[in-house]
Amino acid sequence: MVTLDPLAVLVLAAVVGLMFGSFLNVLILRTHKGTSPWKGRSVCMHCHHPIRWFDNIPLVSFIVLRGQCRHCQAKLSWQYPLVEVGTAVVFAIVAHRFGATWWTLGAFAVTMMMIAVAVYDARWSLLPDSFSIVLAVFGFTFAALAKMPLVDLGLGLLAGASFFALQFFLSRGRWVGSGDILLGGAIGALLGWRMLGLALFIAYMVGAIFASVLLILRRQKTSSAISFGPFLVLGAFLSWLWGQQIVDWYFNHALFR
Ligand SMILES: [Zn+2]
Repeated sequence: MVTLDPLAVLVLAAVVGLMFGSFLNVLILRTHKGTSPWKGRSVCMHCHHPIRWFDNIPLVSFIVLRGQCRHCQAKLSWQYPLVEVGTAVVFAIVAHRFGATWWTLGAFAVTMMMIAVAVYDARWSLLPDSFSIVLAVFGFTFAALAKMPLVDLGLGLLAGASFFALQFFLSRGRWVGSGDILLGGAIGALLGWRMLGLALFIAYMVGAIFASVLLILRRQKTSSAISFGPFLVLGAFLSWLWGQQIVDWYFNHALFR
């Protein structure tokens, strides 16, 4: 196997991330409209003019077109460049963590679904079941190939789903949505039950901080309107990549001082 320069790996991962981010935009928007992400060419959402390939280059086209459709000058959604750049950055982080190995490619697939779930929930306060199911399949496969005990993963899936199912039934769907049950299960199937707790802890901590900041800035009247999916995904991502390091750090520094 050829050895690649670590910086070259990061740059390559970021370029792949830009392209996957572009695909994710199509997947997210077409799932929302209820059309297939595989069939048909991309068209302008406003004038429905087909988008030529040179106007469809990730990030570059958005800059060249100054965020406008070439034909009708309608403003293009900021979702396009944000998801593309976001995916590029996250893919570079993943490549840094797993190095120039096959694990990085597998981790790209898992990460891609995480981003899809987070962006969709942030925009429409909804978690598509299909996204969570694909995330569960990718996550479980990755963890199983990494020799995580299948019992741990099965228990993680059950614990993650039950955690939200309980809240869903207790609150009759007011605290969490039914989509959280599937997403909780998916995250458990990736992390196993041991790291699931850490993911939930991070999600609630960051979510609470975010809600407090919004309340202070008076951007939001109540914290109930904030989608929880993106925080759940963030907690899962951090626990997945650095779970053991975070736990070790916590016990060494935060707890006994
Ligand atoms: Zn247009």
